[in-house]
Amino acid sequence: MALAVCIQCGYLKKSPYSICISCHYSPKGDHQAMAKSLLLSDSYFDPERDYKPGKKELQEASERLQAGNQIDWDETILARLVEEQRELERYGSPSWLKIVLLLFAMFIIPIIALIVYILRATNRP
Ligand SMILES: [Zn+2]
Repeated sequence: MALAVCIQCGYLKKSPYSICISCHYSPKGDHQAMAKSLLLSDSYFDPERDYKPGKKELQEASERLQAGNQIDWDETILARLVEEQRELERYGSPSWLKIVLLLFAMFIIPIIALIVYILRATNRP
């Protein structure tokens, strides 16, 4: 079973990006918060250090947060995770652009052609 820690209150949840049942906090939409949530979950794996947080570690982080203490975030890893999210979003945009262009070609261009045709037909002496 997947395990994650709510970065707001320390409650243990199943997935890093899911809404917390305890405090209703959701990291979605906030790159920094999503990176932190991922770090405090067993969905995270660091290929450079060949490291994945264990259950014990996550439980400790959970207890630390519940006691009102801060987590010592690794800023380098956080920055890298934020950058990875941005890259994923950049990847997502071209397909949207393609859909818009396709719709444009399918509907707008024939309509413009039709308008031009009608204008030419009515202006003919
Ligand atoms: Zn919470």
